[in-house]
Amino acid sequence: PLPSPDTDVPHKTILLGDSGVGKTSLLVQFDTGKFQTGTFSATVGIGFTNKVVCVDDSKVKLQIWDTAGQERFRSVTHAYYRDAHALLLLYDVTNKTSFDNIRAWLVEIREYAQDDVVIMLLGNKADCQSSERMVRREDGERLAREHSVAFMETSAKTGQNVELAFMAIARELKARK
Ligand code: GDP
Ligand code: MG
Repeated sequence: PLPSPDTDVPHKTILLGDSGVGKTSLLVQFDTGKFQTGTFSATVGIGFTNKVVCVDDSKVKLQIWDTAGQERFRSVTHAYYRDAHALLLLYDVTNKTSFDNIRAWLVEIREYAQDDVVIMLLGNKADCQSSERMVRREDGERLAREHSVAFMETSAKTGQNVELAFMAIARELKARK
């Protein structure tokens, strides 16, 4: 049979956020259902992963890009996300600085990404002990509301909300088509 038209167009989806927030881990969890302890080589990114997500009766193809450590030097090139259809912007709930930097990420995104880009803010490492938590869920929710973006807390370790986050992105992309 001919491929259905809606599976043909891959939607470029990019993981953004400070180094160490769990971008690579989140993508590995979504792709393989596994969590690997220890930091992934920061400079060797895994490039992109193609995933097909089912939304109702149709399939949405996501081409998910992981930054290869450029985020450490705040030099993720703008050209890299100029043609992105969706952005997953992560912070780490145990790292206040990564949360504070979200505003700066959003300024750049608003300047260089497409106006209709789908953005989802994710507070990752939600599995942490309450003593380790530095950013409350309400703070994430408020920031997301202020910037009119969707929000979820995730854990690349336990898998909490990981699939749900990508499903929500796929659903939104399909709705905007
Ligand atoms: P990246 O630099 O944003 O790609 O972050 P990595 O995926 O390399 O993760 C940085 C560190 O945080 C690694 O030690 C991971 O094992 C850890 N990590 C990532 N996600 C989670 C999570 O959801 N929970 C916990 N507890 N640790 C995580
Ligand atoms: Mg990484």
